[in-house]
Amino acid sequence: MSGSEITRLLGGWEGYRIGTVQRFEAGEKGLQAEVWIELLPLKRRRMRCSGCGRLVSKVHDIEERWIRDLPLLDTATWLLVWRRRVRCPDCGAKLEELPWVGRYSRVTKRLAESIGRLCEVASIKHVASFFGMSWWAVKAVDKQYLAEKLGPADVSNVSAIAMDEFAIQKGHRYATVIVEPYIKRVLWVGRGRSRESIRPFFELLGPEGCQAIKAVAMDMNGAYEAEVRAWCPDAAIVYDLFHVVMKYGREVIDPVRRAEAKRAEGDRQACKVIKGSRWLLLRNKRNIESQDDRIRLYDLLEANRNLMKVYVLKEDMKQLWDFRYPKAAKRFWKDWYRRAMQSGIEPLRRFAKRLKPYVPGIVAHCRHRLHTSLLEGINNKIKVIKRMAYGFRDDAYFFLKIRAAFPGIPR
Ligand SMILES: [Zn+2]
Repeated sequence: MSGSEITRLLGGWEGYRIGTVQRFEAGEKGLQAEVWIELLPLKRRRMRCSGCGRLVSKVHDIEERWIRDLPLLDTATWLLVWRRRVRCPDCGAKLEELPWVGRYSRVTKRLAESIGRLCEVASIKHVASFFGMSWWAVKAVDKQYLAEKLGPADVSNVSAIAMDEFAIQKGHRYATVIVEPYIKRVLWVGRGRSRESIRPFFELLGPEGCQAIKAVAMDMNGAYEAEVRAWCPDAAIVYDLFHVVMKYGREVIDPVRRAEAKRAEGDRQACKVIKGSRWLLLRNKRNIESQDDRIRLYDLLEANRNLMKVYVLKEDMKQLWDFRYPKAAKRFWKDWYRRAMQSGIEPLRRFAKRLKPYVPGIVAHCRHRLHTSLLEGINNKIKVIKRMAYGFRDDAYFFLKIRAAFPGIPR
């Protein structure tokens, strides 16, 4: 077997044969040892046009391209590929389609795949250093890889969606993520959080897709509701437990805590306990694991009647999302509302009054049991993605990463 034959078998560059092979030790060309392999096209009667896919017999010209491949054994590997351009009757001069390298790609498909798979678990910086490539080159390859792997967003057969906003940069620049909640698939991500900014999603769905949507879960503060009502008039709006509890924390627990801390001003010990209590009061009771924290929560509530009231009403409010029968949920809400109004705590009364018009959206949860923890989970994952590839000036790439992180669980 000839040396050229062995290299071809190892490399598998279909349609090509090996010309010259050169090796450079570390330091001669780059930091790593490098192998340069020249690839010459085999004679073919018919070649595929990369523009339209048809078989063409005329060669327009041949040009050289440097293409990176996976390392061969211990060396960074560069291919000098003589690429043919065909003369296509439909497209004019176009590159010949090759199965192992993309049209304008500077890396082989298998290298792109390795980079893409590594970028799922490591930062761009680490992947770049592993292959001895630049940050920008790795990012470009990963972006292309994801775009090809995910394809255009598939919004067919969707009967429920959940939507939420997230910050691209702290405090400003927001984006919206729309998810199929039952299988946890990200359908769409777009810049902004206004009515107009989510409109492209509904345009993508089309009239039939909009009609198929039966339920939409969202935060009750957002601007989304009006847009959803305009496109999907028959869909039930479902308010998300996660967001309502957050709102309760901001609008009820925080002011009551501050007022109580102020009242306890002379008493340093009591003041300290109240000030450090936000976390305990907002935490799910079941998730408080340490014995010390349980005792602290107990002492805090024991010593302070108002904090006790807002805490108990928070826990009870959460039960609204557990009901299966709308009638029972409505009865529970009436009782909760009466207790809130009689509590004598102004922020709580205000919150209850504001929540009242949204109750149908909470009761709708009985019929459309959308996972309320989903949006919270996605928000956390987005934070991780931001950390792993910071310098996200490129929205399109960022959004592809989010879609790739939630491809959907098969039912
Ligand atoms: Zn063509």
